[in-house]
Amino acid sequence: MTGRDATEKAKGAGIVWDPRIASHVYRDDHPLRPERLVGVHDTLERLGVFARPDARVLAPRAATRGEIERIHAPGYVEAVMRASADPDADYTEWGLHPDGDTPPFAGMHEVSLLTTGSSLVAMEEVLAGRVRVAVNYSGGLHHAMARRASGFCIYNDPAIVCGVLADRGMRVAYVDIDAHHGDGVQAAFYDTDQVLTISLHEYGPIPGLGRMFFPGTGRGSERGRGKGTGYSINVALPAFTDDAAYIRAFDAVVPPLLERYRPDVLVTQQGIDPHFTDPLTDLKISTRTREHAVGTFAAMPYLWVAMGGGGYSLDAVRRTWALEFLIMLGASVPDELRDADPPAWTGAERKAIDDLTDVAIREALGAAW
Ligand SMILES: [Zn+2]
Repeated sequence: MTGRDATEKAKGAGIVWDPRIASHVYRDDHPLRPERLVGVHDTLERLGVFARPDARVLAPRAATRGEIERIHAPGYVEAVMRASADPDADYTEWGLHPDGDTPPFAGMHEVSLLTTGSSLVAMEEVLAGRVRVAVNYSGGLHHAMARRASGFCIYNDPAIVCGVLADRGMRVAYVDIDAHHGDGVQAAFYDTDQVLTISLHEYGPIPGLGRMFFPGTGRGSERGRGKGTGYSINVALPAFTDDAAYIRAFDAVVPPLLERYRPDVLVTQQGIDPHFTDPLTDLKISTRTREHAVGTFAAMPYLWVAMGGGGYSLDAVRRTWALEFLIMLGASVPDELRDADPPAWTGAERKAIDDLTDVAIREALGAAW
């Protein structure tokens, strides 16, 4: 079955939900609070979304060791298992540090198997033709590397899904609209043309601080290697990018490259930390950008597996991800989910942002195969 055949038959949208994927804590003061997913779920429930016949709530499963090791080294998986049972020992060499971004915590292996398995369930439901699109908002943990935890991410569920799909002979396009570069996914497929990765993200020194915005990679010139040359695409956006600039960059790069690549499956990482109220980033987009971007994905003819990602303003997460699931269903969006008064630059700031955005677009298109 080709992607096009399948999407003609499938209808509706699935969302993975289970209180267990929303209840763990990394550390009491940690910004990634999986409880944020409760707000998304409760908002959709209040709007009556789960009573719709075309909305399916999907139960998660644990990923298997073999699925995790599609991307991660066995030694790393064993270290995470040890950290999960005994979080007080030293796992620094694996990127796990008690005071760092990704601390060891009790039960981390088990809950990470569940968040990864949730993305695999979303993939399986779409491949089986039971839904047009399925989303796992607990996933999208795009920074995890083969042998190292990074940036709140332990197992890289988007890379695992892309890898499993590629192993089945499918052409995969991965589009990452989180505020941070999708470095772990790019690294996993840097040498291959079977997975096209496109990441739109903030890039450069953090205004007022001088040190580089995390993770410091994702320049427009990073474009893959060997057979993968031209299949890693980076749209390196300036700090303070607003809706007008972001939408322009998205439209210039994403639809034309996907149309040229013609994937069997689209995999999206929809972190909502580029939102203008997010405390950890400097991008300034609103629900307007996300209605446009996710609406564009929804209008494409490809099988579609979606994930969450970053997002540290609980109200922005709640409203935007609820809004995005409504778009996946083809349902109308109530105004209460939209930002009433998003920021928009004028004058000299407008010109500065637009000029830097032009450079980002030119570099991204110039990098493509
Ligand atoms: Zn992020």
